[in-house]
Amino acid sequence: MASAETASESYHSTLPLTPCDSENERSSEAAPMAGRKRSASEMEEPKRAPKSTRNGPETIEPEATPDFTLECPARPRTAKQLANDDLYIETDAPSLAPHLTIDFAVRPGKKWSELSRFKNAKFNNPVVVIYTSGQVVYVNRRFPIPESPPSDATEDERLQYDQENFWVGLISEFRAESPDKVYVKVYWLYWPDELPEGRQPYHGKRELVLSNHVDIIDASTIATHAEISFWDENDDSNKNVLQERYWRQTYDLKKAARDPRNALSKLRKFCTCGKYDNPNVEMYQCHKPQVGCGLWNHQECLIKALEERAWNQFLTGTLTHEREEDQTLSQKVGGLIKPLVELAGGSKDDKAQPAAEARKGGKRAKQSAKGQKPWFGKLKANIETVDGNVFNATVTQLVPTPASAIANGKGGNRFEPKEWRMKLNCLRCGESLN
Ligand SMILES: [Zn+2]
Ligand SMILES: [Zn+2]
Repeated sequence: MASAETASESYHSTLPLTPCDSENERSSEAAPMAGRKRSASEMEEPKRAPKSTRNGPETIEPEATPDFTLECPARPRTAKQLANDDLYIETDAPSLAPHLTIDFAVRPGKKWSELSRFKNAKFNNPVVVIYTSGQVVYVNRRFPIPESPPSDATEDERLQYDQENFWVGLISEFRAESPDKVYVKVYWLYWPDELPEGRQPYHGKRELVLSNHVDIIDASTIATHAEISFWDENDDSNKNVLQERYWRQTYDLKKAARDPRNALSKLRKFCTCGKYDNPNVEMYQCHKPQVGCGLWNHQECLIKALEERAWNQFLTGTLTHEREEDQTLSQKVGGLIKPLVELAGGSKDDKAQPAAEARKGGKRAKQSAKGQKPWFGKLKANIETVDGNVFNATVTQLVPTPASAIANGKGGNRFEPKEWRMKLNCLRCGESLN
């Protein structure tokens, strides 16, 4: 691995990262962005013409410098082919995932191999910033660099800005001809939307995927340090606080070349459904001392189980409360049911279908309307967290049971939605999740 013999020198001269205009300060806007030591708009304009190995709409190459071309993974060559070609071939891996070894080829190889190697690069303007191998950085992907989001931008707006304007790279090493000609070898972390297979259903909004896709870029395209946590899925302590962005999965270009389906690393499986954890969706652990089985239950799987159970009771006219009313929960429940009742009351149809639709997201509502769930528009489960650790499961009955509808006859009393208190149990061992 290259880092074994890297020098730990650092640059002291002014390196390419200089603002194009010292009056062009945006520090007030950059300040609120967590971990951003430099705003992208402070960057010097790239001097070379754009050209890309990772194309996207309106993107430029991160100065993936015309000085070098990369082949990753390197294709096999005979000794004769190698002797006649100016190639530098190396086997290396991202420092954060040493098992992801990859062979890559740099051309012209002689030039690359003769450059001085460095572990750190120090940039003096407008403030001193040191980048080190092993750090993750944002790399500018557009020119001109769009203005940073305003200081009151939401997290989603900042995320969108980052995804549109930055690539994310893990620094492997610096190589330089001179203080103003510095190259960085990086391993890319993909935004899930950049993956050849695209974003997977379990990918979180703030998630990145570490790859062994290596590139050589110009140091002047580094925008800033990136705050990226490693998410250890096997750590159930719940103490691991993730930073602004995180990664847990890897993408192996070597495997992708053989079978793209194996390129993404396998993640820990959860719940009785055996699917992955989607960090944007709640999970509930069965963790009662001695009796709990430890399983993490997906919220959507619990909701489905609640609705299924209630549906069977509904059809036989036995749907009722499964647990006693909790004093601390009753007020919340009152507040929860109100909007539903109002929506249902406003509808002309006693079946109150519009009320259910109004509460559902567009896509999911359409799927359900096609009949995937027979209880759609009739029953709706909800899990509410109270005081951080009490889970209040309920099923709202939006229509009369078949039996009571017959008893009332057509044109009978208007049905008012009812809310039933349900038990919330682990899907595997049946223990209460409360
Ligand atoms: Zn599940
Ligand atoms: Zn359990």
